[in-house]
Amino acid sequence: MASLQINKRLIMTPGPVAVDPRVSQAMSNSILGQFDPEFTGIMDETMELIRKSFKTENKWSFPIDGTSRAGIEAVIASIVEPGDKVLVPIIGRFGYLVTELVERAGGVVHTIEAPMGEVIPEDDIIKKMDEVQPKVLTIIHGETSSGRLQPIQKIGHAAKERGIFTVVDAVATYMGQDIAVDEWALDAVIGGAQKCLSVPSGITPITFNERFSDEINKRKRVEKGIRTENDKSTSHFITSNYLDLTQLQDYWGERRLNHHTEATVNVYGLYEGLKLAVAEGVEARARRHSYHHEAMKEGIKALGLELFGDEEHEMQMVVCVKIPEGINDAEFRAELLSRFGVEIAGTFGAAAGKIWRIGTMGHVAEKQNLLNFITTFGVFIQSQGADNIDPAAGLKAMTDFYDNNSL
Ligand SMILES: *Cc1c(COP(=O)(O)O)cnc(C)c1O
Repeated sequence: MASLQINKRLIMTPGPVAVDPRVSQAMSNSILGQFDPEFTGIMDETMELIRKSFKTENKWSFPIDGTSRAGIEAVIASIVEPGDKVLVPIIGRFGYLVTELVERAGGVVHTIEAPMGEVIPEDDIIKKMDEVQPKVLTIIHGETSSGRLQPIQKIGHAAKERGIFTVVDAVATYMGQDIAVDEWALDAVIGGAQKCLSVPSGITPITFNERFSDEINKRKRVEKGIRTENDKSTSHFITSNYLDLTQLQDYWGERRLNHHTEATVNVYGLYEGLKLAVAEGVEARARRHSYHHEAMKEGIKALGLELFGDEEHEMQMVVCVKIPEGINDAEFRAELLSRFGVEIAGTFGAAAGKIWRIGTMGHVAEKQNLLNFITTFGVFIQSQGADNIDPAAGLKAMTDFYDNNSL
């Protein structure tokens, strides 16, 4: 029987992206039992790497088994009780995802919104906090659907002064831009695997502080079958079992109390990916992402295409491009993929069908990939009848950028 064969791709989307071969190699190691000291040692080291990645001293820094939305849902399901008010600033699709998770946890959603392509001034969010007086503020750092970077440096401090918990979805910016969890006074932050960290999807690093831990532990209930007489119980327990952060604390903490069977292979991948990323350095990684982001923008503009959204507030790993007149979004992307093995993304909501999102995340963010991309993309879009496209100018602008700017 033939074994699985996957065609080569150049993935220029906001995730999932290609991984470093060292990550794939790490994931081909033998399975270890989840309480094997060799494995629990890797768990502890992984927690330390997660702390470094988030620039935090938080003891509670561990991965959730599941994609990033499992990480977000674990945090929301653990902190939001029925009737709790949650303020959610919305600038795109992932803001709506949070409202969905809050409602499913029984919370009461309050929103403040800006149109896609814009961000919300921090002072407006602070004003809204005073008006709503929520228990939790949940905000998206990099709103991948519109490519915008929401400023959050002041918000955590303002929330803390008001006794509000700040939860940040930093899934797309994690390990591609600086996220200083402690310095920015953020209570719980969710990162991502298959985006700038460049690890296969299925595992999600999160971190939360003692204040957050104390609050969720008021709802702690150890499950029947492993509960001891020392374990207190409560009637307002966290309703999810799998995503109950307090039980996960017992599993990742000193108690090593059995919960789920850890996804050993995903932990290997996360561990290796984090080791590579931390060795490169959080700031160096942010610089690398900004550098290639600029190169991509130069190339795209010189091709003759227009960028979408507020240029003052851009994620440094997603370029949003207006789809030119006469080009069909889905058909173009499908052909680019089938004929050239190159993948770009469309988007959701109000901007769906109107923009493309070109990602330069993690392992993908290197010169060769961008040069190959701009050449293929430029020639193909011209051949499809888009007006005033100059593929040679796109390539030249990108080459000039690389020649004239060093990392
Ligand atoms: C990708 C993404 C998610 C969801 O991640 P999954 O791994 O697909 O669950 C959530 N928030 C943001 C900002 C994202 O970019």
